[in-house]
This record gives sequence, C-alpha cells and structure tokens, in this order.
Amino acid sequence: MRIILLGAPGSGKGTVAEALRAVYGFPKISTGDLLREAVREKTSLGLVAASQMGKGGLVDDATVLALLRERLAKADCQGGYVLDGFPRTLAQADSLEALGPAGPETVFDLQVSDETVLARLANRRTCPSCEAIYHLVNKPPKTPGVCDVCGTALVQRNDDTPEVIRERLKTYHAKTEPLIARYAAKGNLHVVDGNGPSEAEVRGVRRVLDPLLGRPGGAGK
Ligand code: AMP
Repeated sequence: MRIILLGAPGSGKGTVAEALRAVYGFPKISTGDLLREAVREKTSLGLVAASQMGKGGLVDDATVLALLRERLAKADCQGGYVLDGFPRTLAQADSLEALGPAGPETVFDLQVSDETVLARLANRRTCPSCEAIYHLVNKPPKTPGVCDVCGTALVQRNDDTPEVIRERLKTYHAKTEPLIARYAAKGNLHVVDGNGPSEAEVRGVRRVLDPLLGRPGGAGK
C-alpha cells in the first residue's frame, strides 16, 4: 500500500509516518529528510537543493523526484511505503502516478490551523542524525538537548524560525493545498484533525488503516 500524508508544515506528518512504520512496518519516506541528507553529504543534488531550501519555498520537482526515485527503488519499498512531504505540487502528484501504483493508495489530509503550526514549530527540536522529532513541552527528550534514540545533540531546524515558517505556510496554501481537492475527487482521501495531541492524530489515521490492513480494532477509540 502507498500511504500519502498531506498537511501543512508541523501538521504531524513525520510523527504519524514514524508511528505507521512502527505499527505496520512500512518504511517512512520523507523527501525533506532525503533532501537534508543530500545537503549534508554535499552531493550534486544536495548542492542544488541547499540553495532552494531554508527560505520556505520548494526545491525544484526534478531534484526531488530524482532523490525519491532512487529511494523507492530500494528493496524495503517494494511492499509499500508512507510518503511524508511528497507530493507537494500537482505536477509531483502527476509524476507519482506515472511511477505506477505500489498497491492501493490511501491519502490523509492532516488538518491544522496556522496558529497551531506556529506554536508547535517554535518548540520543535530534531535530531540531525536520525531525524527523530521532539517537542520541548509535549515530547521532551529524556536528557535535555540530546536525542533519546542515538545520543546526538538536538537542533532547531534553520527553517523552523517564525519568518521562514510563515513563508512555508504560504507555500503550502498556494502549492500543496490544491492536492486535497484532487485526491478528494479520486475518492481515496481521509481527513484527520491534527490540532490535538499526536496520539489522537495517530489514532485517527489508524482507525482508517487498521481495517484496510486487516487489523480491526487495534487503534482504539
Ligand atoms: P519538510 O521536512 O517536509 O518540512 O521539508 C523541508 C523543506 O524541504 C521544504 O520546506 C522544501 O524546501 C523541501 N521539500 C521537502 N519535500 C519537498 C517536495 N516534495 N518538493 C519540493 N520541496 C520539498
């Protein structure tokens, strides 16, 4: 199954994708993570992406698609995967369809208000090594400033500043939000409220997926 997570920055896509990986075993494919890795490793695609990231806009479709294709070709994706942050434009949705189906496709719109996003991202800290996500108030690391998973010092992403967050929200509303109507028309879109705690959001997604994947009742109320 191909699971697509749509939603504004800070809507919980990364957290939900990680939970789905843990529950169902689908790999989490985050184009943001792939881009940050390419930037860190200074690959040729990473050098192109670096100049386009950090200001709140999108990296060009060709660069993102090249990274995605390479990742989806790996063995762990052949039984399905969760897409976090792709597609982000109508053109990217066309490219995904052209890649062919990875089994049935289920799409989630994780809905959050702009106010929730601004409040949430100011408190977000991430691990630059394993990309684990923390929240200073709601999900603090066990040792302040240190990743629980791999022990690396946590950072605030340089695009999690209030000015860049506002730009990312504008980009989301202009370029990505139109995808909601597209998938609604396709008939495979499920809307989940992302304004509350992440556990409730994960439960909302699992309530849809559990029966589809033959695990009735696992998500709870
Ligand atoms: P994310 O980690 O999903 O918030 O992505 C961080 C940044 O990477 C975004 O603000 C974009 O600049 C870039 N990015 C991630 N995914 C895409 C995509 N599918 N298309 C274009 N740019 C992307």
